[in-house]
Amino acid sequence: MRSFQVCQCGAPLQVAEQPTPKPAGTEVLLKVLAAGVCHSDLHISDGYFDLGGGKRLTIADRGIRLPLTMGHESVGEVVAVGPDARGVKVGERRLAHPWMGCGECAVCKRGDEQLCRTPRSLGVFRAGGYSDFLVVPHPRYLFDIGDLPPATAAPLACSGVTTYGALKKVGAVLSSEPIVIIGAGGLGLMCLALHKAMGGHGAIVVDIDPVKRAAAKTAGAQLVIDGGAPDAAQQIVAATKGGVWAAIDLVGSSSTARLAIDSLTKGGKLIVVGLYGGDITLPLPFFPMRAITLQGSYVGSLTEMAELLELVGRAGLPSIPVATRPLAEVNAALDDLRAGKVVGRVVLVPNQ
Ligand SMILES: [Zn+2]
Ligand SMILES: [Zn+2]
Repeated sequence: MRSFQVCQCGAPLQVAEQPTPKPAGTEVLLKVLAAGVCHSDLHISDGYFDLGGGKRLTIADRGIRLPLTMGHESVGEVVAVGPDARGVKVGERRLAHPWMGCGECAVCKRGDEQLCRTPRSLGVFRAGGYSDFLVVPHPRYLFDIGDLPPATAAPLACSGVTTYGALKKVGAVLSSEPIVIIGAGGLGLMCLALHKAMGGHGAIVVDIDPVKRAAAKTAGAQLVIDGGAPDAAQQIVAATKGGVWAAIDLVGSSSTARLAIDSLTKGGKLIVVGLYGGDITLPLPFFPMRAITLQGSYVGSLTEMAELLELVGRAGLPSIPVATRPLAEVNAALDDLRAGKVVGRVVLVPNQ
């Protein structure tokens, strides 16, 4: 088995050759067919998250151990099953839900494994899909993708369920009020497509890059706004006659969070998803006076993944641009993402 691993923070991934694992117990072995490249892979390979004010959260502080095979957007073909793995057969194509917890605690038992205090997520806390093969610990994490092409289905595992989970937090106003989506990269275009599929009223998409704004406009944004414009928030407030009920910040920087909060109407909610980093200072009286909510959203639950696949089965796959590259080009793919050159998603495909 050939895997690409983070061995040292800030350095290119290295190839590791290891014996292909044999699944034990409830484990399932997948031959990887597609592995999406996500922005959070950049933070993991860089080795830290920017907390603002010169402070950093290192991946070691977060409990991530090296060497690590990244890759949390994986689709594979089942090639072997452990003796206790039920409900999967060799030859099936499955999407691996990567957001795993311990499976034992109260949080996991109620179905929120993504919030478990001892996370085991694929490609973050255990080996992921930047490899020929991937071990998934239990069949409950494997979702049938039917006839969906692996490369276009793979981004559903992170980009899809993350934006679906964020959109659900908007609540009932989703279908009656416009929302703001900040960031029109892979996550932003996925969010826009799912917003439409979920019956969203309309989306105002903000990005500093004109190419990405154009992609959002083509994908059906009701309005696109240059996040770098000094009056970006005022433009949103004017366009919505007083501000929006919800903003989803897929960037998560000091300036985007500020812009989002300034765009909210009374009673509005900011949902922070992106991990770009930084910090903000907010006058506390505005929370009660403006009745605003600040909420974080981290990936999605198994239930949300099932709902998302049901939605995709009904409304079709979100049509975000997906480019495939050989797995061996993983370092170049990460560099392109870091340089902001990727429109939509890049999905790595191992040699078949
Ligand atoms: Zn991701
Ligand atoms: Zn748990």
